[in-house]
Amino acid sequence: MRLCLQTCRSRSLGFPGWVWAGIVTKVEDQITQLMSLVCRYRVAACLSAQVSRSLFLLAGIPLLGFLVLLPLQIPWRQLSVSWLGVVHYLACVSPQLGSVLYHLFMNHYGGAPVYRKLLTLDMCGICLVNTLGALPIIYCTLLCQPAWRSLALLAYSALSSYVIYCAVSAHSNVSRLCSFTWQAAFRFFFFYLRWAGLGSGHPSALRCYLLMDGLALLGGIINISRLPERLNPGRFDYWCNSHQIMHVLVVISILYLHWGVTSDLTWISYYTCPTV
Ligand SMILES: [Zn+2]
Repeated sequence: MRLCLQTCRSRSLGFPGWVWAGIVTKVEDQITQLMSLVCRYRVAACLSAQVSRSLFLLAGIPLLGFLVLLPLQIPWRQLSVSWLGVVHYLACVSPQLGSVLYHLFMNHYGGAPVYRKLLTLDMCGICLVNTLGALPIIYCTLLCQPAWRSLALLAYSALSSYVIYCAVSAHSNVSRLCSFTWQAAFRFFFFYLRWAGLGSGHPSALRCYLLMDGLALLGGIINISRLPERLNPGRFDYWCNSHQIMHVLVVISILYLHWGVTSDLTWISYYTCPTV
């Protein structure tokens, strides 16, 4: 712990030494006390591990933004079906929350068993955005076919339960990514319905959803391909490695989901289904 903080101190950006020493001692004492109370946490390893810290920030800053700003952008007053707004909010927040907890506690002394639980938590966040995020899309696509809409929502929920089981029990990044294939195929069927004019929804939403899935897929591929660090080992240890690029792409992907769903939710508030 001391070694880590000494290193940090040497890198301090212009703080007078005595000020920095005071801050460091205070922070060190507080964190150590808190963490030793809560759990057996490897504080020193976490603070010194720049990779963990950068990943924590890449997930934590968007989480704060989503928690505070997204509810302000959801058209609650115009919502005729309020659960769609709640589900969408949970969908946007859950992957960031899972990632923050995963990267915050990944240096736990508990070793592999704790790490596996944290990885499962991280995967649950991704599963939730895939599952809950698609429900408003399906709802709006089949807005004027209530029976088919209920059936499709039920089918997607059942499929998602199976996908969640596959994703959390997968033994590699590739099989984890492949677990989401069936959910993606289901969503693309609904995108096709919109594109073919058989489904309903805001005209601009389809483009957002396609970009959303495209960016998420790109992030997953970059993560499992370990690019660019594979091309230049050591150069991307702290910043711009594949996992960080994936986090950035996932955040942009969620933003496209949000823009698409808010367009759809506003659209259903004034759209009237044609009478047969
Ligand atoms: Zn991560």
